[in-house]
Amino acid sequence: MDEAIVAGSLTKQYRNGVKALAGVTFHIKQGEIFGYLGRNGSGKTTTVRILTGLTKPTSGKAQVAGYNLPSEASYVRSHIGVTLQEAALDDMLTASEHLVFIGGLWGLASGQAKGRADELLQQFGLTQSADRRVGTFSGGMRRRLDIATALIMRPQILFLDEPTTGLDPQSRRALWGEIRALRDDGATVFLTTQYLEEADELADKIAILNRGSIEALGTAAELKERFGTTSIKVQLSDSADARRLRALVPDAAAVDEKGSELSITLGPKDSSWDVLGRLHSAEVPVVSVSVREPSLEDVFVKLTGEEVEQSGENAAGAAATPAGAGAGATA
Ligand code: ADP
Repeated sequence: MDEAIVAGSLTKQYRNGVKALAGVTFHIKQGEIFGYLGRNGSGKTTTVRILTGLTKPTSGKAQVAGYNLPSEASYVRSHIGVTLQEAALDDMLTASEHLVFIGGLWGLASGQAKGRADELLQQFGLTQSADRRVGTFSGGMRRRLDIATALIMRPQILFLDEPTTGLDPQSRRALWGEIRALRDDGATVFLTTQYLEEADELADKIAILNRGSIEALGTAAELKERFGTTSIKVQLSDSADARRLRALVPDAAAVDEKGSELSITLGPKDSSWDVLGRLHSAEVPVVSVSVREPSLEDVFVKLTGEEVEQSGENAAGAAATPAGAGAGATA
C-alpha cells in the first residue's frame, strides 16, 4: 500500500446548512507528515472526522489504510490512531493506569497492556510521571499522553488534530520532535494545524485549506516558490540615490520608499543574488541590506487573503503564528 490516505472530492454540509467542505481532494503517501493548514472554521476537523469514520461525507470518496469510507469505517478505526482537540483523559487515573485501561479496551491482556504502557511512557518522556494522576499534568504532558494513548496498538496512520494548540513554545517544540520520530519510524501522520511555522517545520507536504477548499498543495518549498515573494530592504546613505537604485530593478513587483529606506519586492524574473550583484556593481552607497526570503506566511496571506496577526509568542521572537489569527475578528 503506497497511499495511506486518499480523499476524493469530499464535501460536507451539516444539517444546519453550513457547508464545511466544498470538494477536497488529496493523496498522502505512507510515511509522510501531511500538514493540513487553515484558520479556525476552515474545515480541518470536519476532514479528520470524515477520514476517521466519525462522520459521513455528504459526497465524495475516501480511503484510509486501503479501506473505503464510510462503508468500512470499523476496519479503518482499527488501523489508525486519533487524537482530537480535547483529549479524553481521566484526571483521576495515573498516566500508567490510563494507558493500561485503554490497552484493555483494545483487548490486550493486562501484562501486555502494562508492557506497552511502559514502552510508551518511556518513548514520550513520561516514565518519571507514570504514577502521577493525569489531573496534575501540564498541557504539554497531557498532549504527549494523549498521543501515546493513540499509539497503543501501533497504528501506521496517525491523525493529530491541532496537537499543539495552546501549548507553550517549549512544549510545542518537544512535541514536534516526537511527531518527527513517529514519521521516521514509518508512520503516516495527518497533522492539522493553525500554526504556519509548525507546518513549515514538520510537514513533508502541506495543504492550505480556506473555507472548505484546498487553495494549494505541495511541499513548503514548492508553495513558497510558487506563491511567495522575496523582498530586499536597502538603507541608503543618501536618499537622493533612490532613483538610481530603482533603475537597477526594472522588473521588481514593487518598490516602496520610506525616507532613505527602500523595500524592493522582487518580481518573478528577479533573483536576490542578481539584484545584490547589480547594487554592488553600480556602487550605490548603502548603509545596510537585508534579504527576506519567501515565508509560508506570505503564501497563506496571498492564498486566503487573510492578514496573519503576530501571536504574543512570536512577537517575542519565539514560536509560531496562528494562521489567520486576525481573521476571526473580522469573520
Ligand atoms: P476547523 O477544524 O478548521 O476549525 P471545522 O471543521 O471544525 O473547522 O468547522 C468547519 C465549519 O463547519 C465551521 O463553520 C463550523 O462552525 C462548522 N461545523 C463544524 N462542526 C459542525 C457541526 N457538528 N454542526 C454544524 N456545523 C459544524
